[in-house]
Amino acid sequence: MRHFDLVVIGTGSGNSIVDERFADWDVAIVEKGVFGGTCLNVGCIPTKMFVHTADVAATPAGAARLGVDEELHGVRWPEIRDRVFGRIDPIAAGGRRWRMEGNANVTVYEGQAHFVGPKTLDTGTGEVITADRFVIAAGSRPVVPDVAGIEEVGFLTNEDVMRLDELPRRMIVLGSGFVATEFAHVFASFGVEVTVVARSGVLLRAEDEEIAARFTDIAAKKWDVRLNAKAVRVERVEDGSIRLHLETPRGAEVVEGDVLLAAVGRIPNTDLLDVEATGVTLHRDGRVVVDEKQRTVVDGIWALGDVSSDYQLKHVANHEARIVQHNLLHPDAPIDADHRFVPHGVFSSPQIGSVGLTEQQARERGIRYVTASQDYADIAYGWAMEDTTGFAKLIADPATGQLLGAHIIGPQAPTLIQTLIQAMSFGLSAREMARGQYWIHPAMPELIENALLKLPLDA
Ligand SMILES: Cc1cc2nc3c(=O)[nH]c(=O)nc-3n(C[C@H](O)[C@H](O)[C@H](O)COP(=O)(O)OP(=O)(O)OC[C@H]3O[C@@H](n4cnc5c(N)ncnc54)[C@H](O)[C@@H]3O)c2cc1C
Repeated sequence: MRHFDLVVIGTGSGNSIVDERFADWDVAIVEKGVFGGTCLNVGCIPTKMFVHTADVAATPAGAARLGVDEELHGVRWPEIRDRVFGRIDPIAAGGRRWRMEGNANVTVYEGQAHFVGPKTLDTGTGEVITADRFVIAAGSRPVVPDVAGIEEVGFLTNEDVMRLDELPRRMIVLGSGFVATEFAHVFASFGVEVTVVARSGVLLRAEDEEIAARFTDIAAKKWDVRLNAKAVRVERVEDGSIRLHLETPRGAEVVEGDVLLAAVGRIPNTDLLDVEATGVTLHRDGRVVVDEKQRTVVDGIWALGDVSSDYQLKHVANHEARIVQHNLLHPDAPIDADHRFVPHGVFSSPQIGSVGLTEQQARERGIRYVTASQDYADIAYGWAMEDTTGFAKLIADPATGQLLGAHIIGPQAPTLIQTLIQAMSFGLSAREMARGQYWIHPAMPELIENALLKLPLDA
């Protein structure tokens, strides 16, 4: 049985750990799928390439309010799809080639691995290996919705919906989180009739309540949105359509489409990996338990990213990979992961950027807080865009002026939020941030400047 210094399972963020500093380590990397993991192949990157294209396709619809008459003549789906994957697939292939050929000290196993004993891994290639150290970076996968008939009817997920041969006429999107709403925006902008089926009373329910409410109002004007709807049964009817039966407080409802996209959440891949066979413990939802140094309960086994994190975000997986990398290289001076202010973006339409506490979380914590909101409609650049729905909302500690949370819905929100992430991360107070620097006039960040100045702080 071959023994390694280090085995990394998963080539998403896990793939970035082994660099030239590990040149004298004997390393194995195990991957069951495409090199590069979810973000590169079926997640963040292709979706945002589609989102940008969708934004362009949606532009004519919003141009008339500026006095510009534009018309969308159509979208060429095969070209759109092939532009995205023509860029991505070679990157994934190049990453694989580099690992296979470029690192003399790295052995790649292309199989679905599972632990068979303490620090003993069946690589799924017919070879069982052992190691002093393991990094579990095996990610997560889409949840299969609990709907009668779904396996027989068939459904799409983020893993195949972006590679369809042709655009469907109608799409049912099951789910109401960021993946569901990003795909709804993409396909609706390309002319697909989109129905969104949400269990909750709002879309994006994890967002600040005012942001989620505003997003839901806007979405309901563009898509057929069914809220408080439990999908119970699905069938394929004679003309080939998919018919989805819903239970709602309004009574039974039925929606129809040509394809069904499941985006109801993701589960960690720990079951595939049988991590308990090596003594690693799990949370009730299947995530690996790690401490602040990304260590599992087994000495020498680390975990990172979606397999252990409840954030399920690429920038978190990358941050945790850097922590694991440092702690592997410097066992006598380990460092902690920083999860104080983890931001996220929603690249739907409108976009959302968010960091820190939502108002409902601040309320639940019973802390003293103040809020301030600023509409895009009341800043100069908002006039330029004729925006009527976007706003920034800040939550702060009135005694110290420290920001507790920031939430923006509107154009470029995930970009605009970055200055607030910076302020929170470096402890800049709202007043210092507002008046300690120039704000370019009349640029969009004036939205943030004005919101900061409106905060009713104690002093
Ligand atoms: C549609 C979509 C859009 C997203 N958009 C964003 C976004 O805009 N911003 C953002 O921050 N995040 C986004 N995410 C989330 C982001 O993609 C993930 O948080 C991130 O990719 C997780 O990285 P990871 O390294 O933990 O896992 P992954 O990248 O999933 O890597 C895990 C790897 O392990 C392999 N593996 C699993 N089990 C085994 C096994 N038993 N044996 C061998 N190999 C195995 C898998 O094949 C995979 O390659 C999105 C996700 C989706 C689905």
